[in-house]
Amino acid sequence: MRPIGRAAILAVGSELLTPARIDTNSLFITEQLNLLGIEVVFKGVVGDDRDEIGAALGAALARTDLVVCTGGLGPTDDDLTRDVAAALLGRPLEEDPRIDDRIRARFAARGLNMPGINRRQAMVPRGARVLENEVGTAPGLWIQQKDQVVLLLPGPPREMKAVLSAAMGALKERADGVTIARAVLRITGRTESHTEEVLRPLYVEWAQAPIPVVATILASLGQIELHLSARSRSRAEAEAAVRTAAGQAAGAVGRDVYSSDGRSLEQVVGELLVARGLTIAVAESCTGGLITSRLTDVPGSSRYVNRAVVVYADEAKTALLGVPAEMIARHGAVSDEVARAMAGGIRARAATDLGIGVTGIAGPGGGTVQKPVGTVAIAVASPDETRSRVFRFTGDRAQVKFHASQAALDMVRRMLEA
Ligand code: AMP
Ligand code: MG
Repeated sequence: MRPIGRAAILAVGSELLTPARIDTNSLFITEQLNLLGIEVVFKGVVGDDRDEIGAALGAALARTDLVVCTGGLGPTDDDLTRDVAAALLGRPLEEDPRIDDRIRARFAARGLNMPGINRRQAMVPRGARVLENEVGTAPGLWIQQKDQVVLLLPGPPREMKAVLSAAMGALKERADGVTIARAVLRITGRTESHTEEVLRPLYVEWAQAPIPVVATILASLGQIELHLSARSRSRAEAEAAVRTAAGQAAGAVGRDVYSSDGRSLEQVVGELLVARGLTIAVAESCTGGLITSRLTDVPGSSRYVNRAVVVYADEAKTALLGVPAEMIARHGAVSDEVARAMAGGIRARAATDLGIGVTGIAGPGGGTVQKPVGTVAIAVASPDETRSRVFRFTGDRAQVKFHASQAALDMVRRMLEA
């Protein structure tokens, strides 16, 4: 039989076509399939509609070896995936008394009778293999159609995961034995094009390597991710290829790379503080506590975070941090001088090794010609020096706040890595 190399995922559910819900099941399914070297080449979301499900399933079957559907296996009238798949594959539905018994027993365990509509979930397309669902009523279904497989999984994420796990062994047997290894480099402090520029020669080299490495750059708020992947029959070989490529990319990009193993910036900063036995305190204005929130997202951050103040008003900067009122009057609350005084002020009051001071204009109002919206002054004070910089970020209020938090954490990282 032809091995399974290419897969499609179809998420079924009208709620997934509204602004209220997003299909997350396909992310988990992709991750699991990739572990077996099965590549997802096509994904779709369709509502609870016979024609739409039929058309999408038909299109997926025309292009792939495996189609994984999630959702629409429930007991209600809008749950159509089972019916549509059976009809499309030319298999009549037959009642499986064992499923019926299992569902009855699940209800009985809660002191309830099984509603008549649940019998739908005991209907199985002829010849399909039933994948037991230990955490819900709808079992999964494995339908072998010549060389192709159609796998129907329940929609609730917990049930989808349980049933897919139960199918992994059978999928592994049908996969072609190639594994996909991945690595992600996280980069901050340079643009996507500047990153691309230094990496381009490596792309060419990786494409021609015995185990080719595929690279994708993803720009997101305040950072860039370089995703690397390699396929091989040997997991060790695939992993070695992406590891080598990640090392080369890190060498080319230099200090703007802050992690190559999935760690967040706040985790990296936390680990640097722990490794050096240092403590930190934060004085935030325009970020409103976001920097401290991110620092304390890391478990164990009480080892290095001492305290933080949100000093929005000018008099708060003076009262809580000792920023001289005349400094604020002369240079403005958003200034390099005030950010430095905030960093030094919180550091002295908390008696920590490091202090961060951030003051800026998040917008949309409050900008001037000299200091437009997005102007943020950031300072980091240490026993040896105070580093500071005035940034000009772009974006809306939330984006400016995030950019500022990212830049402040990154300044600490660079100071500690030096
Ligand atoms: P269903 O099997 O269609 O009855 O789905 C039941 C519930 O599972 C839905 O109401 C959603 O909350 C959830 N669900 C279904 N499909 C997905 C999906 N692709 N991603 C995340 N949640 C889902
Ligand atoms: Mg549904």
